[in-house]
Amino acid sequence: MHAAPYRDEHLPRYTSYPTAPHFNAGIDAGTYAGWLKQLKAGTTTSLYLHVPFCRSMCWYCGCHTTVALRDGPIVDYLAALRGEIALVAGALSAPLDVRHIHFGGGTPTIIEPADFVALVALLRQHFPIHPNAEIAVEIDPRRLAPAMTAALAAAGVNRASLGVQSFDPVVQKAINRIQSVEQTAAVTTGLREAGIAAVSFDLIYGLPKQTLQSCRDTVEQCLTMQPDRFSIFGYAHVPQFKKHQRRIAEADLPDGEARHEQAELMARLLTEAGYVRVGLDHFALPEDPMARALAQGRLHRNFQGYTTDPCEALIGLGASAIGKLPQGYIQNEVVIGRYAERIADGALPIGKGYRLTPEDRLRAELIERVMCDLTVDIDAICAQHPIDARVLAPSLRKLDQLAQDGLISFDGSRVLLPENARLFVRKVASVFDAHLDQPPRQYSRAV
Ligand code: SF4
Repeated sequence: MHAAPYRDEHLPRYTSYPTAPHFNAGIDAGTYAGWLKQLKAGTTTSLYLHVPFCRSMCWYCGCHTTVALRDGPIVDYLAALRGEIALVAGALSAPLDVRHIHFGGGTPTIIEPADFVALVALLRQHFPIHPNAEIAVEIDPRRLAPAMTAALAAAGVNRASLGVQSFDPVVQKAINRIQSVEQTAAVTTGLREAGIAAVSFDLIYGLPKQTLQSCRDTVEQCLTMQPDRFSIFGYAHVPQFKKHQRRIAEADLPDGEARHEQAELMARLLTEAGYVRVGLDHFALPEDPMARALAQGRLHRNFQGYTTDPCEALIGLGASAIGKLPQGYIQNEVVIGRYAERIADGALPIGKGYRLTPEDRLRAELIERVMCDLTVDIDAICAQHPIDARVLAPSLRKLDQLAQDGLISFDGSRVLLPENARLFVRKVASVFDAHLDQPPRQYSRAV
């Protein structure tokens, strides 16, 4: 395989297509209200709630979040969030079927326990929540009090995603995130004892001062806690967009080859421990729903990464939250003050969005299948879309080049990635991206 030219390329993560930098201000509150009104009764729906506050800043962070040392801003934000929930529910013309709720951030568990329980109760009041709905929460193990664990369980949370990143004290100092193995183990045990059985760990490679040995140690320490899933992301160093990343010395960052070795080592350790490798960066125990979805061709990709969630509508709530309705994407105002002001004015707090065209839908499905399955039958997908397949001629030429470099092979109209090209799946997906040649901003490294 001749992959070296692609290792240092910067590409989208393809958690959507088109990707968020291509959203535009032409989609406004009126457009969104119209889209919500058109949702039919029983539309399978997911809710994403964004909590953009943390008690301290990790230098590697790429999320929309801000440091809140006091509770006042969080309390004010919750009032705005409750207002948005009422506005969205009021714009609907039919009851939906909510199957998934995801609290992300930031640190969602920064909310007071009683306020979290009340927030979920408010969601249940405004939306029909399926009795078997998955309710997932992102957790910072450094700051989860037992009272909050109890509140999560009382609210019906049944999946927890724990930020771990690296247990190496040298790396932790370089990223301003000190978190012990014991702390993480205690939180994991506490969640399970409270009945929140499904636990995922997030790890990162490519962090400052990270080595192969520290990656190995971290994975082995995590394995003693047996999470159901792992996500292993490459650190995206974009200090031009995330100013706190300037606290990370570039000289301390592993180069492209070292990042590749770290990613492959962690993947090998997890697969040897019995985890199924899922797509680009997820790992799941064989009996986990994600591993089963992969085996059955039912894996999907959304803004949280890989998911088993096949929802027809995703409603984003909170500052910067992104939603996807059958008609297109919607992103809320990113700046918290502006978000809250819009809601106080009685308006849906939309900042920008994107109306999908038939060609976008074809390209989105090709990209999603490549990202999820590492293979796609181009003719079979084209047959399901009312689009002249000749629009894909430039993509097919790029695929020919990738085949010459050994990143893919063809079986008729089917494209296949060999196992050793898995980390280059974003490169293969990118051949179907019609927006890539004029990127409005820089993306993260492909590996
Ligand atoms: S806890 Fe998570 S969201 Fe908050 S600063 Fe750290 S990485 Fe970012």
